[in-house]
Amino acid sequence: MSAELTFTPVSDIPQELIAGETGAIRQEAIDAIKHLDQWAAPQSVKTTLLNRMNKPHIRKSPLGTVLIIGAWNLPINLLLAPAVGAIAAGNCVILKPSEVSTHTAALLTRLLPKYLDPRTVRIINGAAEETTVLLEQKFDHMFYTGSGNIGKVIMMAAAKQLTPVTLELGGKSPAFVSKDVDIAVAARRLTFGKLFNTGQACIAPDYLIVERGIEQELVKEMKIAIQEFYGASPQTSQSYGRIINKNHFNRLKRLLDTTHGEIVAGGDTQEDDLYIAPTIVLNVQLNDPLMESEIFGPILPIWVVDTLNEGIEYVNSKDQPLALYVYSHNMKLADHILENTRSGGAVINDSLIQFMVTALPFGGTGPSGIGNYHGKRTFDIFSHERATLVKNLGMQKALTISYPPYTEKKTSWLEWLLFDKVKYADNAILKGKL
Ligand code: NAD
Repeated sequence: MSAELTFTPVSDIPQELIAGETGAIRQEAIDAIKHLDQWAAPQSVKTTLLNRMNKPHIRKSPLGTVLIIGAWNLPINLLLAPAVGAIAAGNCVILKPSEVSTHTAALLTRLLPKYLDPRTVRIINGAAEETTVLLEQKFDHMFYTGSGNIGKVIMMAAAKQLTPVTLELGGKSPAFVSKDVDIAVAARRLTFGKLFNTGQACIAPDYLIVERGIEQELVKEMKIAIQEFYGASPQTSQSYGRIINKNHFNRLKRLLDTTHGEIVAGGDTQEDDLYIAPTIVLNVQLNDPLMESEIFGPILPIWVVDTLNEGIEYVNSKDQPLALYVYSHNMKLADHILENTRSGGAVINDSLIQFMVTALPFGGTGPSGIGNYHGKRTFDIFSHERATLVKNLGMQKALTISYPPYTEKKTSWLEWLLFDKVKYADNAILKGKL
C-alpha cells in the first residue's frame, strides 16, 4: 500500500468519526474487557438426575485463525469491532481492510503493529486479486462486511474448506412514515439518519414510504433540517462529508441524472470535490433507477402511497433489508408493520441508533446477511462451544445399571434416572396438571 497520509479531512469536527468509528470500537473493547471473565467462563447446563453428577458444561475455546474482511464506509469500525471479539475469544486474526478507503488502510497498517502483537494479529492489504489468494487459505472462520455480490464469492471460497462464515451485507432499508407522525421531529431524525457519513451507511434509510397527504410538509421540514445541520451551503459545512471516490460519485450522479422523480432539494454535484448535495427526490415510482439497488449516498427518494400496506407489500416482494424504520405515534401501526415484514433490525421513530447498542444483535437476514455480532455475540461467533462432562472415577457400582446384561429392573432404574423430567411430565399429563 503506497498511499501517503496527506489527506486533508473535509471536516474538522470528528463527531461522526467518534460516533461511527472510534467511539463504537472503544465501547466494544470496554465491554469485552469488563465482561471477558464472564463470557469465557465455563457454563454449566441443566440435565437429568443421572448426568447431574457428571458436571456437564460448555467450555469456550478459540476457533484458531480467523479472517476479517472490512468495507470502506466505516473502515475502522467494520474491521476492528469484529476483531475485538475475535481477540477476546483468543484467536489469531488476519485483518483485510478495504482497499477503497486507502488512507485508513495505510494508517491501520502503520499503527496496529505498534499496539497489537504481530504474532497474533496481522494486516494484509489488497484488492480483489490479493483477497482471492487470501480466500484460498484455510481459516477457522471468515467474517466479511460488504456487498452481497462479493458475499457470495466469500461463501463459495469458504465452502471449499467448510469454513464457517459471518456475512454482514447491505440492501435497501425502507422507512415508513405514517401521517399521524410529528412531521418536524421525524424530518430531523430521518435527515440525520440519511446524511450521517454522507449517506454512506449500510443502515441509512434508503427510501421513504410516505402516506399521502404529508409529503409536502415532510419535504419542507427536511429542507429546514438540512439547513439547520449544514447551513445554506452544505458544501462549505465542516459537518458534511464527501463521496469516497470517483466511481461511487459517478454511480450516484448517474442515479440523479436518470431519475424520473422530482428533485425537490439539493441535486447539485461537483466532481472534483466529490460533492453531492443532500438531495430529496419526491414522487419516485417503483420502476425508478433510484429504487433498483442500494443508494449508499446522500440521495433520498420518497415513494408516496395511499396506505402503508402498499409499502408492506412492496417490501415483502423485495430482498429482506438490513434495517427497517417506522415513524409513527401509533404503536399498533408500528407493530403491524414490524409483524408483517422482515429485516435484520428495526427502529421505531429513529434511524441508525440500533448500531450503537452493543447488546442488540447487529446483522441481516436472507440477502442482507448471515449471522450477527456486537458485544458478547462477537465473542461467541469466534468461540467454539465445547460440550464437556467431568465424570467422577468413583461410584462405578452405580453404573452397572446401564451395562449389559439388561434386566427389567435395571431398565426401570435407568428410566427414572435418565428421564426424570419426561416421567414427571407424563405423570402430570395423566393427572391433568399440564
Ligand atoms: P468494498 O468495495 O470495500 O468491499 C468489501 C471488501 O470486499 C473489501 O475488503 C474488498 O477488498 C473485498 N473484495 C472486493 N472484491 C472482492 C473479490 N472479488 N473477492 C474477494 N474480496 C473482494 O465494500 P462494498 O462491497 O462496496 O461495501 C458496500 C456494501 O457493504 C453495501 O452494500 C453496504 O450496505 C454493505 N455494508 C454492510 C455493513 C454491515 O454491517 N452489514 C456495513 C457496511 C457496509
